[in-house]
Amino acid sequence: GSMRIRYLPENLINQIAAGEVVERPAAALKELIENSIDAGATTIQVDIAGGGQSAMIISDDGDGMSAEELVAAVDRHATSKLPDEDLLNIKNLGFRGEALASIAAVSRLKIQTHEKGGEGWEISVEAGKKSDIRPSAYPQGTRIEVRDLFYATPARLKFMKSERAEYMAIKDTVQRLAMAYAHVAFTLTHDGARSLSLPVTLDPKARLAAILGRDFGENAIEINAEREGITLSGYAGLPTLHRGTAQYQYLFVNGRSVRDKLITGCVRAAYADVLHRGRHPMVALFLNLPPELVDVNVHPAKAEVRFQDAGMVRGLIISALKHAIHENGFVTSSTVSSYALGALQSTPFSPRPAQYQQQHAQQSYMGTAPAASSYGNLAEAQHALYEHHPSARHETFIEQENAPQNFPLGAARAQIHENYIIAQSEAGLVIVDQHAAHERLVYERFKAQLAQSGIEKQGLLTPEIVNLDEGTIESLMAHKALFANLGLEIEPFGAGAIAVQSLPALLSGKADITKLIHDIADELSENDSASMLEERMNEILSRMACHGSIRSGRRMNADEMNALLRQMEQTPLSGQCNHGRPTYVTLSLKEIEKLFGRR
Ligand code: ADP
Ligand code: MG
Repeated sequence: GSMRIRYLPENLINQIAAGEVVERPAAALKELIENSIDAGATTIQVDIAGGGQSAMIISDDGDGMSAEELVAAVDRHATSKLPDEDLLNIKNLGFRGEALASIAAVSRLKIQTHEKGGEGWEISVEAGKKSDIRPSAYPQGTRIEVRDLFYATPARLKFMKSERAEYMAIKDTVQRLAMAYAHVAFTLTHDGARSLSLPVTLDPKARLAAILGRDFGENAIEINAEREGITLSGYAGLPTLHRGTAQYQYLFVNGRSVRDKLITGCVRAAYADVLHRGRHPMVALFLNLPPELVDVNVHPAKAEVRFQDAGMVRGLIISALKHAIHENGFVTSSTVSSYALGALQSTPFSPRPAQYQQQHAQQSYMGTAPAASSYGNLAEAQHALYEHHPSARHETFIEQENAPQNFPLGAARAQIHENYIIAQSEAGLVIVDQHAAHERLVYERFKAQLAQSGIEKQGLLTPEIVNLDEGTIESLMAHKALFANLGLEIEPFGAGAIAVQSLPALLSGKADITKLIHDIADELSENDSASMLEERMNEILSRMACHGSIRSGRRMNADEMNALLRQMEQTPLSGQCNHGRPTYVTLSLKEIEKLFGRR
């Protein structure tokens, strides 16, 4: 038959490749910024218009190119970055030699460049058609102008998202690169408006804080770990600094931003214990390893990587994060106390409660105008406050004697609203949520028991019968062995019921068993089969802990409260409850004084 297989023309090949390498403006921009970084730039300016589709201009002060290099740079598979033809030894961000050719095939591209000690040159390429090179006045480095991206491939153009969405993706791209290259200054403008301005810094944390916000800077723990030539550095947010999405987890492998399932899984596992499902920590982690131990050539946009020894990488990341979280387990995020402070400050101040004034005026000054400013009135007001205090709740106030004030959480002074312990510490004031705090303590004791000799159980004299639907019974019975390990023994009991024969000793006499069983059943159905055994056990222990802890609403005496505070100080991770909510907040004396305008 006739020859129907044909070789595609070069330009079509480039357009096809462009579909993968530069699927959207942000992807093209990422390639161009990486080129600038590879060229040793210390200042990179990015100006975009129309979400990047109408124009992206990247100016750098890097090494620049010679005339010959400029001509070759826009050809496919032309690269200066694989000198020894070894794909296992990749030290630059680029290496595929196809970014410029791909972008050139689908846009109007202009490159101006000026090599150090050389001359300036420029070239234009329209939909893959190269112009001759011309001398250029560009002073030093390289300036690349990409206009009308995808105009040559209308099908792709149709798939562009809104300008705003493309702009957001571009900003994210610049931010990710800027996190990894703090020694490079970045600016970004969109339609003439400044969007990012990041000066050079030698402090990686300062760069992260400039991008992720001051909260991150103040509430992130430094990570520094090493194992057999693989290092992990960066910052991990305190568990109480959590977010509703995993979007604020920035992961880098050898300076490349990646979205790697292995690493995200490690982050999740490390925080599983201190964050409620659905909440996510903020982290910026930099993994560095010898290039031959990682394959970055898995994905055209290089967003995924493959590790030679995934187990080791996993171990390193999880243990480093867990260690950091445990070391700082007692600390709650400062965002918590500044939130509290904000709330206090914004409470409108009313010197004379209207209710009191009215009532009092009627009683004592009937017929006369209320003279609210006289001393007599004030004294009576105070009296009235104590006598007719409107609160229906009881408060416990404690005398100041022998107070263990020099402990970090101070001495309990009062319990208010039957759930909050007010303690005085050397530094100021501590407010503890008794339920959240105790829940954490019970949970940590469960885990300690589990790690040592297993959960202590306590048999019930008469089994407790809990009525349930068949589906729930089936799923509970399927986990019978797991529960038994945790001290909870259950058996089927006729149709539509189970018999609970033992409980973890820490819960005995405290838990409402029916509620506990329902709660555990909910946990199973919410989290069916997906998670690993350890994660699941912890989830169940965490639910159990909730049932074994001091309820809010329980009055406590001073000894009980102080005992709770002392236990918290000795318990790892007591700064947040099992769901990542803080267990206490502090207000320093300084902050209190600020509230009263004393500073
Ligand atoms: P790669 O980066 O994979 O080598 P590219 O198509 O992105 O492929 O770039 C091709 C070549 O063009 C690079 O290898 C480099 O030599 C040159 N180049 C591209 N951008 C710049 C720049 N901003 N400064 C200096 N040289 C550059
Ligand atoms: Mg490149």
